[in-house]
Order: sequence, then structure tokens, then C-alpha cells
Amino acid sequence: MEKVIAGNLMRLILDALRETSGPQFRAIMRQAGWEEYADHPPPDSDEPIASLEDFLRLTQTIYTMLGEDLYRLHQRNTGLKIAEGAIQGPWGAQIRAAALVVPHDQRLGWYVGEYAGYMAKAGVHYTIREEPAAWHMTLAHCPACPGIAAAKQPICTGIVVFMKKAGDLVMERRLQVAEVACHAVDGAACTFALYK
Ligand SMILES: [Zn+2]
Repeated sequence: MEKVIAGNLMRLILDALRETSGPQFRAIMRQAGWEEYADHPPPDSDEPIASLEDFLRLTQTIYTMLGEDLYRLHQRNTGLKIAEGAIQGPWGAQIRAAALVVPHDQRLGWYVGEYAGYMAKAGVHYTIREEPAAWHMTLAHCPACPGIAAAKQPICTGIVVFMKKAGDLVMERRLQVAEVACHAVDGAACTFALYK
């Protein structure tokens, strides 16, 4: 299988998983066929180390072994780590500076476009729609909930955290973000509302 997921991204995800899963970490890694990285984290580089199939198997194993609530917590922790990295890196500096010249009443729409553009570079493609109360961002293929069905509540909390953290930075206010449809709940495309 073609390797497409970078070592540095998996390193953050596994870091978050270690925190969330505690004593179950090793069992999850073994069950998912990821034991190679149970003791030594993946290299901190852009070099891909895993295929989509590897990633899917890991995601499903985490969900099965930890259950819905802890999966959501794992997602949140993952989103926080990825957001902190992105905000402290060149992208964070760039959007923070660029936002200053965008008028406040246009800034949320501008941010939605910037966020979608940044994610598109990583192969995650959003469809954007403006509603009276919020901007809606929809994913045909969500990276946070692949292979999961029959969740009781939306589960892609990592994406919510990332949108909010970066959004707070450029909006200069606390941005409200919610996942209003989730593929893991009923098969609908994952949709995130960023409220005006
Ligand atoms: Zn999702």
C-alpha cells in the first residue's frame, strides 16, 4: 500500500493517543498492527510512514477499544496538538499578519477560505457555504471519523478544536464552532458551523 501519511503528523496523533489511552496504549497499537511505534515515536519528518489503510485500521481500533466518549477525547487531544503546531509555525504567523488588514465584518469569511486552503494542501477538501448565522464547512471525506458508524453524537472534535484555536487567533474574539452533522452518526457528510 502506498504510504501517504507523514511521520510528523502520526507522531502528534500517537502522542495524543498515548495520553488518552493510558494503560491501553500498547494493546491498541498491537491490535491495530502499529506495534512498531509503541516504544519509539515515528520520525519527526514529512516522510510518509503509513498508508490510508494503516490509518483506518488504527482509527477503528481506537474507537472499538476505547469507546465513543474516549475516542472523542482522543480526537480533541489530537486536534489540540496539531493546532498548536500549526499556529506556532509559519502558517500561524502568516494568517495572523494577513488578518490585520481584513475588515472585521469580512474576517470570518476570509478565515474560512484560508483554513480550507491550508487543509487542501494536506489533501483534505472542504465545501464552503454561507448561512445567515454561520459559515458551514463540509467534508466529503472526513479524516477524523473514517470507518466509524452509529455514534450517538458528532465525533470529529479534533477538527472543531483546530478551527476554533486558529480562528480565535485571527478573529481576536472567541469563535464558536460546532460539528452540526457527522458521518459517524448517520452517514451525513461531516459539517462544521463557524458562527458569526
Ligand atoms: Zn468526521
